[in-house]
Amino acid sequence: MADTERTAQNFIEEFVEEDLASGRFDHVRTRFPPEPNGYLHIGHVKALCIDFGIAQKYGGKCNLRFDDTNPAKEDTVFVEGIQRDIEWLGFKWDKLHFASDFFPRLYEIAKDLIRKGLAYVDDQSPEEMRKNRGTLTAPGVDSPYRNRSVEENLDLFERMKNGEFPDGSRVLRAKIDMSSPNVLMRDPTIYRIKRCHHHRTGDEWCIYPMYDFQHPIQDAIEGVTHSLCSLEYEIHRPLYDWMVHNAGGFDQPPRQIEFARLNLTRTLLSKRYLRYMVENHIVSGWDDPRMPTLVAMRRRGYPAEAVKDFLVRVGVAKADSVVDGALLEACVRDALGDSAPRGMAVLKPLKLTLSNWEEGKVDVITMENHPDHPEMGTREVRFTKHLFIEQDDFMLEPVKKFFRLAPGKEVRLKGAYIIKCEDVVLDENGNVTEVLCSVDLSSRSGSEGADRKVKGTLHWISELDAVKAEVRLYEPLILDEDQAAEAPEEASEEEEENTSAPKGFSAKINPDSLVTLTGCMVEPVIAASSAGDRFQFLRQGYFCKDQDSTPEKPVFNRIVPLKDSWAKQKQ
Ligand code: ATP
Ligand code: MG
Repeated sequence: MADTERTAQNFIEEFVEEDLASGRFDHVRTRFPPEPNGYLHIGHVKALCIDFGIAQKYGGKCNLRFDDTNPAKEDTVFVEGIQRDIEWLGFKWDKLHFASDFFPRLYEIAKDLIRKGLAYVDDQSPEEMRKNRGTLTAPGVDSPYRNRSVEENLDLFERMKNGEFPDGSRVLRAKIDMSSPNVLMRDPTIYRIKRCHHHRTGDEWCIYPMYDFQHPIQDAIEGVTHSLCSLEYEIHRPLYDWMVHNAGGFDQPPRQIEFARLNLTRTLLSKRYLRYMVENHIVSGWDDPRMPTLVAMRRRGYPAEAVKDFLVRVGVAKADSVVDGALLEACVRDALGDSAPRGMAVLKPLKLTLSNWEEGKVDVITMENHPDHPEMGTREVRFTKHLFIEQDDFMLEPVKKFFRLAPGKEVRLKGAYIIKCEDVVLDENGNVTEVLCSVDLSSRSGSEGADRKVKGTLHWISELDAVKAEVRLYEPLILDEDQAAEAPEEASEEEEENTSAPKGFSAKINPDSLVTLTGCMVEPVIAASSAGDRFQFLRQGYFCKDQDSTPEKPVFNRIVPLKDSWAKQKQ
């Protein structure tokens, strides 16, 4: 894929080059900083491509760092899942860090801020603090505890750490400016008391650092040069710089640069929303193939290179935008077109019997596994008197331009013979249960008589080859086109605690996002494949064997349909 090699300059590269030219930095180090409170989604891939891409382009390194400072919703399964996902994409991190490994150091830095008169313990209740923070138009009001002595602050902070005070009764705040026009600069909380078991540090700590304190300082400790993050952190940048500057001791403070979040039509890209759907059983799990997570995409059958190719095509923009989900599907088709072997599957079978073919006679037909890749070999399928075709490929009263099978009409069965519909069998409701055809015995593909052209070619499967399978068809989870554009709001602390719908979650769930077809028929090689194997089912799309498969019941996920010209005309 030549596109992945694209080297067009984006604005982040321009900043980095400026920094290298001015001598602000003589090397590049980036980091990818997920919070292990869920699995990665395709939005994170944008951040990953940028973090790893910039490091690679300038001969630098990229760390993987878990910002694990909110123990309530974090878990080791997410830590492990995130690493697996990044490896699947093929990115190789340099150092692996956990913010929690730095809790002692962060605690010392907080004490230094106190000693410098730049932090204080506040006893106000959360409500008082909220009220006194002011608004966008009104300045905040100083806390009555703002001018405590250094000694008192050090003593109280140590006692917060020692567990002498109840949760939420006191916080440590940075002393910045209660009348700053940037509300985030109005003495932000940097430590809170929270008795909560941490997945790595257990019950060692009952105070935890806040993101706006931990994140910048951690970047500085790791020697990150460029801290790349999504646009919602732009207003945090003055705070980021304040923290690094006042913590002191860093000769090359990192530079934060923001880029636009990836938004996709009819897709929610926020871990909190995705988590809500998992916890409320709207989906079967983080790996439900309808989810925009990497675990789900992998299970559904998306190739890693298609996902990365998509991000290359989206590019690195500074401004927010919503990308059409169809582009991702196009990337998946492009990646699979060349690599997925072809096969035949009938999703909604309709019996077809050939009147002039002897009972028991078998014609073994050799089919190529890929039209453009002879090296992918061939396979044999059997042609017999009793076959199955797709229900949708037959119409009793054909409409105009329907070039498939209908009474009196001829079609070719792919790779085999031309057949003509002579009669049908109807059930008591008038539905077609069987199609009776004659076969032109001189029309076998590849034979001398094969030149005769007919308009339609259908896929088919012989009753001797048909293995029963389940096929799952997916559509977007969300009905509303606008949903994706709604930026997720930041979670409040209370919200972290409960599982009700997160603020801003108003998604209308698509009731038809999963259609399960149980009576499908697939070729034996397809049925016998391993979970994760991908095929193009002729005329249908790309499919991947699902992990739910058993020897008795193979299950296939539709990764993406082929573009269906007939379905388009019908609309
Ligand atoms: P939540 O969705 O719960 O707010 P998050 O998606 O921001 O969480 P983090 O673990 O904080 O998840 O994100 C790790 C990195 O991924 C951050 O640097 C963040 O900027 C980036 N990121 C997250 N979502 C997107 C997105 N949709 N597009 C681009 N980057 C993203
Ligand atoms: Mg976040």
